[in-house]
Amino acid sequence: MKTPFKLKVVQYLIRIYFERWSFERNPKRHQERMWLKLQKHVLSRSPKYNSLEFQDLKTFPIQEKKEFMGDFNAINTQELDFNEAMEIAVKAENSRDFTPTIKGLTVGLSSGTSGNRGLFVVSENERAMWVAVIIQRVIKWSFKKRKVAFFLRANSNLYSSVQSKLIAFHFFDLLSPMEDHIRRIQQLQPDIVVGQPSLLKLLAEAQKNNSIQIQPQKVISVAEVLSPEDEKTIENTFMVPVQQVYQCAEGMLGQTCKHGNLHLNEDGLIVEKEWLDNNRFIPIITDLRRNTQPLIRYKMNDILHATECTCGSKMQALTTIEGRMDDVLQFGQDKIIFPDFIRRTIIGASPEIDNYQVIQVSYRELSLFISDVELWEAAASALDAFFKSQGIPNIAIFKSNTLRHEKGSKLRRIHAKSSPTM
Ligand SMILES: [Zn+2]
Repeated sequence: MKTPFKLKVVQYLIRIYFERWSFERNPKRHQERMWLKLQKHVLSRSPKYNSLEFQDLKTFPIQEKKEFMGDFNAINTQELDFNEAMEIAVKAENSRDFTPTIKGLTVGLSSGTSGNRGLFVVSENERAMWVAVIIQRVIKWSFKKRKVAFFLRANSNLYSSVQSKLIAFHFFDLLSPMEDHIRRIQQLQPDIVVGQPSLLKLLAEAQKNNSIQIQPQKVISVAEVLSPEDEKTIENTFMVPVQQVYQCAEGMLGQTCKHGNLHLNEDGLIVEKEWLDNNRFIPIITDLRRNTQPLIRYKMNDILHATECTCGSKMQALTTIEGRMDDVLQFGQDKIIFPDFIRRTIIGASPEIDNYQVIQVSYRELSLFISDVELWEAAASALDAFFKSQGIPNIAIFKSNTLRHEKGSKLRRIHAKSSPTM
């Protein structure tokens, strides 16, 4: 008999509880055991990986999104064809009907900020696992009935599976007009709000000017980089700390702990670090729990900022997801500037600046948008002084009157001309 979905979620809740316990006792031994299990039960069914069975992880090739997608047919364990799966995913996205599946598996598209869309496929077991991780680590268990307002670009079966007597998910399609969201969320009065920071900020503004009056107990930030300024605005408005979730192609990579740091879910992931300096690294992820589309040594495009956390967990703590490699500005051959420095410089120019954007037009030109035009000069001269202090003279800074942000896409406050090769 087929196990009902909700029962599966409960089974996974128990399983990940023990996995976390096992990791915290002995991280290395736990990961080695999970890695062996993954090879035996999952990679043996993947045409790409079955010949590499029972070898050291380091012998497996590192893949970026492009190769990962290019190798889709060889990687997946269900003999799925990329074009067939893509067709279903695109059709679902265009019709906004997200129920079709392929061989009983859920397909979806993940939007990359660089425009290249990723295709992900998950089984019902993986959906149940995802739900269990979300409940255990983000929403937290409660016997009180709660309503969740979930803003996302595309719905998929993945999310609508989280319905029960205790948690009711309500989906807000990011492509709908903001007025509709305002009306619906006011009616709903959610206990939990989940969305990208640019959207959460719009909701905070609506709350401030009394278009809505909501009292969520949790505000959860997903998808985009959450800057400390946006975090403060949202927290001050809703009077609750903003929790962050770090996801990739629908895998849960990490979330905020009670001390406000993000932790990578290393009880289900092996994270290799490509260090950029003493604190910053690019993660290379091996997901020990996925089995339809195994994620092995997948090199992300993110810059993570490592830290130590006193909450007691041995899982790697991060102060922040600092940005993406696409946001690193390059000047000439060898000079690079991390997006965090640009952000700090602009914010440092005036405490009133909270909406800005920098777009690198060429190695010598930047366009700068500041919502409060009276503060533009201050921000521009702070940037100018910063570049000079870094030995990058003669950068022309132009005024931009509009924020570049396509509806439904991720807001990027800092756009580099092209990502540097490092
Ligand atoms: Zn912590």
